[in-house]
Amino acid sequence: MELFSQKVKPSDLEKGDHVYTWRKNIYSHHGIYIGEGKIIHFVNPRNDGILRFSASSGISSSGTYCPTSNCGLEKVAGSGVRMSCIDCFIKKGKLYRFKYEASPQFLIAKLRGGTCTTARSDPPEEVIHRATYLHENGYPKYDLMSNNCEDFALYCKTGLWSNDIGYQGRSSQANMVHPTKKEDRIENHIQRFATAIPRACSKRENKDLGIREDVVKVPVDELSSFLLALKLT
Ligand SMILES: [Zn+2]
Repeated sequence: MELFSQKVKPSDLEKGDHVYTWRKNIYSHHGIYIGEGKIIHFVNPRNDGILRFSASSGISSSGTYCPTSNCGLEKVAGSGVRMSCIDCFIKKGKLYRFKYEASPQFLIAKLRGGTCTTARSDPPEEVIHRATYLHENGYPKYDLMSNNCEDFALYCKTGLWSNDIGYQGRSSQANMVHPTKKEDRIENHIQRFATAIPRACSKRENKDLGIREDVVKVPVDELSSFLLALKLT
């Protein structure tokens, strides 16, 4: 049924697609397909859990042989922005295409966050430019609630960033949960993603990137100075 089918075969991907895969069936991991079997994605550099490619053994952390040269490459060490092959990105999971310009009805019908937005995507060349620029130049620090892998992909697709310093997170997964104390363990957050679904649907709709009024278009080469002006770096 089209309404719920966002699954996509690697051969059907188009450059600039925002893709995601489910991890442990609890949360989704996101990235931007840039063509030639490569995905640029953002992970927590301290706890990425995605892959550790060993050039000497050719073994990725998923335990599979990866024949792709430089898979998992981080051009800015410690930035968390990596370029990986599709297999290492999905880690034996399935691949899905994030939906843009979703109707409000579609948004509500999707029980889980992290799958769609009413916002409009920019043309693929702009999307790829942002993703590759951030891969080559770095990206703001990872934060599960306010700057995660979905935030990265949403920014690459739309160029939108919040100018509200108290409300930075744009990802629909994070917006499904209530703000929590910084010191809460990541596991607690993840558990809440799974349990907060029913009460959070209307909350998520209100916070959707395409509906929010606190987001502005920020050119990728001005992102650092924009965040500096907001005193967020
Ligand atoms: Zn790989």
